Amino acid sequence: MKQPLDSRSCIELEDRYSAHNYNPLDVVIARGEGAHVWDVEGKRYLDCLAAYSAVNQGHNHPAIVRALTEQAQVLALTSRAFRNDRFGPFCEKLAKWTGYDRVLMMNTGAEAVETAIKAARRWGYEVKGVPDGRARILVFDNNFHGRTTTIVGFATEEASRHHFGPFTPGFEVLPYGDLAAVERAFDDHVVAVLVEPIQGEGGVVVPPPEFLQGIRKLCDDRNALLIADEIQSGLGRAGAVFAHTLDGVCADGVTIGKALSGGLYPVSAFLARKEVMNVFTPGSHGSTYGGNPLACAVAEAALDVLADENLIERSRELGGWFLQELRNLGSAKIKEVRGRGLWAGVELQHDAGGARKYCDLLRERGVLAKDTRSHTIRFAPPLMVAKDDLVDAVAKLGEVLAQ
Ligand SMILES: *Cc1c(COP(=O)(O)O)cnc(C)c1O
Repeated sequence: MKQPLDSRSCIELEDRYSAHNYNPLDVVIARGEGAHVWDVEGKRYLDCLAAYSAVNQGHNHPAIVRALTEQAQVLALTSRAFRNDRFGPFCEKLAKWTGYDRVLMMNTGAEAVETAIKAARRWGYEVKGVPDGRARILVFDNNFHGRTTTIVGFATEEASRHHFGPFTPGFEVLPYGDLAAVERAFDDHVVAVLVEPIQGEGGVVVPPPEFLQGIRKLCDDRNALLIADEIQSGLGRAGAVFAHTLDGVCADGVTIGKALSGGLYPVSAFLARKEVMNVFTPGSHGSTYGGNPLACAVAEAALDVLADENLIERSRELGGWFLQELRNLGSAKIKEVRGRGLWAGVELQHDAGGARKYCDLLRERGVLAKDTRSHTIRFAPPLMVAKDDLVDAVAKLGEVLAQ
């Protein structure tokens, strides 16, 4: 058998042969189980990122692993040129689970957002009656919706768009949380408002409740679609199936991904009312892997785990306590603690030296959390995490902030 490499060698190989499109913490993970991961040398860590909330159900959940391995031995991919026996039943389950009429399955989150953009534009031309080529979609600064050339065209984070233009027209970027700006930007060519109910990559930014409520009303009054990107905020992370419903609104379309597969396989979907989804006709959109039987089997099991283990309620209850514990730390280096459900952004004072430094110190102490947007440490552990592990993580954060 080949001798397993140590962490240092793995990092060297990565640096030598991979594109440098990430700046990962120097931990080389070799194994995961539940809320914990182990590095190559066998050191254990609490995972407080959960693969950007893809692993809400915990690493390698046995029920999802079983669904994956059983389905892989029977049928993995047909393409949608043919039908497969897992697709229809899963679409029914997802529609009933989420309360939407129709689902369109894709693989990655970015593809689900692209699907939502296509749906909104076609709906604008064919249902609302916007002149062809004139549709506008309102979006927000500090957003994260994925990495395609269209999507990064309306990102405001310079690193993700620098020298990738020319960009797709038809998007207008407004200040997040600023309802008056949305009202001013509305005209008859606006087909949709695309919004993260809580900005995840943006640093767990929670807008005031009037924001989504006001957008809902504007969309109703001006005949436009409210599309919620719930790829990170949804499926339990914020303490609800969908974070936007916590503000008492209902979106016309929703994108989901990440936790839809519990981390076992890339699965995403766009969900919508049938008046919106009916704009797709044969040949108008698709994906070779979208809706494949393996994806359906895995996603079905991943949804069952969320329900069977009450992970969404757990996120709400444990999360409320966790946010309070973080606020109680009272460190002079903390500017603000934001969050909802088991999802916290600890924004540090901008003279504290940057969040990355504290993430490295936490890593040394066995807690993996990731800096986002320079000054914020995000905590988003698997939703099944034990309370004692969080007590320990808060204590360690207190220690590193005292340094
Ligand atoms: C992660 C994320 C995406 C993109 O998902 P990928 O699977 O990485 O393409 C889109 N929107 C939001 C809100 C996300 O957090």
